[in-house]
Amino acid sequence: MHQFPSFTTENQPPMSWQKQLANAVNDIAELYALLELPLPKNCHQPKKFPLKVPHAFIKKMQKGNPKDPLLLQVLPDVAELMMVAGYSSDPLAENNHNPTKGLLHKYKNRVLITTTGACAVHCRYCFRQHFDYGANLPSQQEMLEIANYIQADSQINEVLLSGGDPLNLNNRRLSAWIETLSGLSNINTIRIHTRLPVVVPDRVDDELLQLFESCHKKIVMVLHINHPNEIDQALADKCTALKQAGITLLNQTVLLKNINDDIATLCHLSWRLFDVGVLPYYLHVLDKVAGASHFDLPIERAVELYWGMLENLSGYLVPKLVQELPNKPYKTPVDIYQYGLLKSVND
Ligand SMILES: *Cc1c(COP(=O)(O)O)cnc(C)c1O
Repeated sequence: MHQFPSFTTENQPPMSWQKQLANAVNDIAELYALLELPLPKNCHQPKKFPLKVPHAFIKKMQKGNPKDPLLLQVLPDVAELMMVAGYSSDPLAENNHNPTKGLLHKYKNRVLITTTGACAVHCRYCFRQHFDYGANLPSQQEMLEIANYIQADSQINEVLLSGGDPLNLNNRRLSAWIETLSGLSNINTIRIHTRLPVVVPDRVDDELLQLFESCHKKIVMVLHINHPNEIDQALADKCTALKQAGITLLNQTVLLKNINDDIATLCHLSWRLFDVGVLPYYLHVLDKVAGASHFDLPIERAVELYWGMLENLSGYLVPKLVQELPNKPYKTPVDIYQYGLLKSVND
């Protein structure tokens, strides 16, 4: 087992997860003071999609390191302001697949619900950072319309709760979704895509675990972890509890320049995930969203890294390298022979 950095705060009463969310840092000067770093020149304070990072995540960052891989995921860099050709506000053309408010139906057997626009953390590479949640948040009435839509299509057997982050909802609102969807006979699996257990582990409270345990559908949770430093003992404990509640735990990662674009980091991430009972699911090539071009890597480099993972990892710890191409009915596997031909021929 790996050693985890500990991050319990001694002599302080525990703060509710709601309070931790409300107390997220949104001032860059405050963040840099906490990290004992001088304010860098390359940052800005955006009004739309501002800095947002909870203290529990800041505690996993290395003090005094301006290139900390967790810090770089949340730091609004002036590079965001550049208009770069090929990077758009709706890179996945999701607006074309919006049959009813709050629902995305792009793939045959599964639909995605944007349950909330809110997240606990603002990841600067987020592909939905320009998404119009205001126009897409389903009300109570629209929840029933979504349920009707799903029930009317017998090919649908899985529902994804996404957002925003569905665990940003309180347990009452989340259980309303889970109860409604559990009532649909064609649904086998409810999948929750979330970063909350990573950035505010206390979100996984007993009430949530009970809600999951009492659900008679299969529940899959896809975490979103990009770097091994995000995995500490608090997260490990919550993963254990989630597994005890019968949940399948998977992880997806986005390949990010200067954050996880080396073979050693990607391999360590897979090993750490396995330590805490999570299997790597997807390794995503960055979606070309406006404001995130500074995180992008040439596809050839992505493929080179992937060959390195294949060489160093057990097969079940190698995530699928995929790319979201607009209007495709699946996430497209990257053709590693096309881009990695030299490498594979030379080996
Ligand atoms: C990613 C995604 C899914 C889930 O795809 P999987 O390949 O099953 O993980 C479903 N719907 C939408 C709109 C998606 O973007």
